[in-house]
Amino acid sequence: MTSTETFVIVGASLAGAKGAEALRTEGFEGRIILIGEEAARPYERPPLSKDYLMGRTERETIYVHPPEWYVEHDVELRMHTRVAAIDPVGHRVSVERGDPVGYDKLLLATGSSLRTLPVPGADPHRVFYLRRIEDCEQLRLTLQSAPRVAVVGAGWIGLEVAAAARTLGAQVSVLETAELPLLRVLGREMGEVFADLHRDHGVDLHLGVQVAEVTGEGRQVTGLQLGDGSHVDADVVVAGVGVAPNSDIADRAGLAVDDGILVDEHLRTSDPDIFAAGDVANAFRPALGKHIRVEHWFNALDQPATVAKSMLGSESAYDKMPYFFSDQYDLGMEYSGYVEPGGYDQVVVRGDKRRWEFVAFWLRDQIVLAGMNVNVWDVTDAIQTLVGSGRRVDVTKLTDVDVPLAEVFAGDGDTGESESG
Ligand SMILES: Cc1cc2nc3c(=O)[nH]c(=O)nc-3n(C[C@H](O)[C@H](O)[C@H](O)COP(=O)(O)OP(=O)(O)OC[C@H]3O[C@@H](n4cnc5c(N)ncnc54)[C@H](O)[C@@H]3O)c2cc1C
Repeated sequence: MTSTETFVIVGASLAGAKGAEALRTEGFEGRIILIGEEAARPYERPPLSKDYLMGRTERETIYVHPPEWYVEHDVELRMHTRVAAIDPVGHRVSVERGDPVGYDKLLLATGSSLRTLPVPGADPHRVFYLRRIEDCEQLRLTLQSAPRVAVVGAGWIGLEVAAAARTLGAQVSVLETAELPLLRVLGREMGEVFADLHRDHGVDLHLGVQVAEVTGEGRQVTGLQLGDGSHVDADVVVAGVGVAPNSDIADRAGLAVDDGILVDEHLRTSDPDIFAAGDVANAFRPALGKHIRVEHWFNALDQPATVAKSMLGSESAYDKMPYFFSDQYDLGMEYSGYVEPGGYDQVVVRGDKRRWEFVAFWLRDQIVLAGMNVNVWDVTDAIQTLVGSGRRVDVTKLTDVDVPLAEVFAGDGDTGESESG
């Protein structure tokens, strides 16, 4: 497939690098320019709150490709380069330093950026955030002296940082506005499981609290002042309070943006020559009948194969089931499916919750919407088949570890679609 076309990819992280790889795999022989504002070549972020943060893996292991891969695959990697604007009519992007870069097709893989802690005293030199490799390396160094650490936010990143810091011997407090960790994502039943996990490991959990101020003298932090007037002492404050999609350049170029860049099932934006994938893409999912934006590793790894096909003119659609994973202490989990907050009427457990070896299922009208396997492995395919089936299950069979997941259905022809309308 000889081509004189130029495909530009903005955002040189997992989705961007995988996009370049997929274009070559699909046989694209034109020019690929991969532009990223970070200094480091594309790397994976999950180790930044786990093994790499704990000093258990080498830097080399976290990169998406070795340096020679870019040369061998003729991918022009331009790091340390921020794209300032897109000109969809002129088919070019302008960069902050350098000449504009023309494109035939453009892939936006600009990911997401950290939200910051909006309270007095939360100056950047006082609060640690975790998004980039440099953030991780600074925090890793600080954790070596086993300080008192206060983590603001009991979402995935906050909890993983808490687990890493405890494992390294720090005294750890976690502060969360909601009543339970991960309440919005997992709901009450499994939020309690994660609260127990961290309490069992000696984390001081402060739930249902408001952080009012980061206290300290100059750069030296002394802790957090809470809304109820109490104070949590700490030498180090880490905030994990969520991310927002990097969709500003798309917005300014007039592309359709709503909680990320809106794309159809082919991952095409409102401009036929511009595509988006990864954290920044709010993609239409035919199976769900709606747009969703997924801020997880698998989505950034997997969407590029589809977007490359779309960029090359095929009508391939992305409709994989949302999936993510987390590791905290000795607990490893994987989650498959999609549940709106409060969108289920039952959570059931198969296995032993007290030994942290189980699969939890979220159901509505006896139909499994999502499943989370905790320290139980090689069941993802079976869980995804169950979730994807849309069929009613027999809950007694579902919770019986001796009944294979393929045999838990309530009865032939008993589908939720027909009965729940
Ligand atoms: C610490 C941490 C731990 C995580 N752990 C897990 C986990 O355990 N499981 C899981 O499923 N997910 C995890 N994630 C989420 C996962 O890493 C993300 O979903 C994934 O990185 C998204 O990849 P992306 O390529 O879409 O975007 P990003 O990784 O955000 O990369 C986007 C890149 O584009 C660059 N960029 C943005 N705008 C411009 C511009 N205008 N010009 C040039 N470059 C630009 C950014 O600097 C960045 O390098 C974790 C994330 C973090 C931060």
